[in-house]
Amino acid sequence: MNLSYWEYKTWLSNINFTIVGSGIVGLNCALYLKKLFPKAKILILERGHLPQGASTKNAGFACFGSISEVLSDLKKHSEEEVRQLVLKRWEGIQLLRENLGDEQMDYQNNGGHEIFLKEQADLYDDCLDKLNRINSLLKPVFGADAFVVQPNSFKFKGVQKNYITNPFEGQINTGSMMKTLLAKVQHSGVTILNAIAVEGYQENMDHVVVKTDQFEFKTNKLFIATNGFASQLIGEIVKPARAQVLITKPIENLSVKGTFHLDEGYYYFRNIENRILLGGGRNLDFKGEETSSFGETTLIQNRLEEILRTIILPDTPFEIDLRWSGIMGMGNQKKPIVKQLANNVYCGVRMGGMGIAIGSLVGRELANLMK
Ligand SMILES: Cc1cc2nc3c(=O)[nH]c(=O)nc-3n(C[C@H](O)[C@H](O)[C@H](O)COP(=O)(O)OP(=O)(O)OC[C@H]3O[C@@H](n4cnc5c(N)ncnc54)[C@H](O)[C@@H]3O)c2cc1C
Repeated sequence: MNLSYWEYKTWLSNINFTIVGSGIVGLNCALYLKKLFPKAKILILERGHLPQGASTKNAGFACFGSISEVLSDLKKHSEEEVRQLVLKRWEGIQLLRENLGDEQMDYQNNGGHEIFLKEQADLYDDCLDKLNRINSLLKPVFGADAFVVQPNSFKFKGVQKNYITNPFEGQINTGSMMKTLLAKVQHSGVTILNAIAVEGYQENMDHVVVKTDQFEFKTNKLFIATNGFASQLIGEIVKPARAQVLITKPIENLSVKGTFHLDEGYYYFRNIENRILLGGGRNLDFKGEETSSFGETTLIQNRLEEILRTIILPDTPFEIDLRWSGIMGMGNQKKPIVKQLANNVYCGVRMGGMGIAIGSLVGRELANLMK
């Protein structure tokens, strides 16, 4: 289809900044570019009718890393690096709250609990042994103990008698967060075009030609914020990682409240109103889940249901309402990649499983490359 003169002139000419991807990173990048350059013409191109990666699919944990995750990170990173990782998540969540407001995304600080299976006695003991050391390490971030021991008050079955809880952890309504963020970006004067897939780009001296599945146009600068799909456009090493989720129908008198990490973070669940949202299980088939195709598998969905039935809700009947998946971007390091790729091309990708926590900061960092 040929575009008209009006269409080109109005939407696709004199573009200063084009962002590929309307996830949390792309949207924040647009917001901060608009702050830096109020008169700039900014365009976001998004392949999905809605954002179609991880930002509208996730579990909505405003989290910083459970104690076993922090301990595992300490095997590969220095103490200072681990502290910085946690600090980034902490600062990222404060920035998200500041930008959008707690009410707009139903932010609730109900605490985050790591629960340990009965057969994980060694891991549990190790975490308890190192609790004081980790609390000292993270004191500069939280100004208080990051982790405390709490009894199994929600009566999960087949687990150790205590949780190790981070009282600072919170939860958000992911849908409300993204809806508010999208509205804020549009209100600032940024144009978002949906159902347009960027297929490639060509760098010239002072501009970039962007090729989409519908049209071509020029932009002064191009920002790639496509996370798990990044390797389709750029050479950075970002591996797609699919994450599967399910949610129950409403459960009468559900007492479970908060965010929960199970089996070293391979499973995670929370309440959302009176339902349980449960995700995880990539460790059952790492190779199969290293894909950028959406979908659910019997293997993982069955295990999720089994966990609901045997551990989380052993004495409560429930029905599954919905199942879905999202695509994350992973690498051999936990740090995201925020950098200039060519004269006029930049990227902010590889958010791992913490993009809600760090997405606002990474979007800002990406925009700040223009300073
Ligand atoms: C099931 C699940 C649970 C999670 N739980 C949590 C959690 O509790 N807490 C937390 O902090 N993080 C969580 N995450 C991770 C978090 O959601 C991601 O890290 C974050 O959303 C990544 O944001 P992004 O903007 O970088 O990428 P995305 O949200 O994936 O956005 C990238 C966008 O680019 C678009 N795109 C891709 N290619 C193209 C193209 N060629 N042309 C145009 N558009 C394109 C995609 O459609 C997509 O909308 C979870 C992720 C999943 C999948």
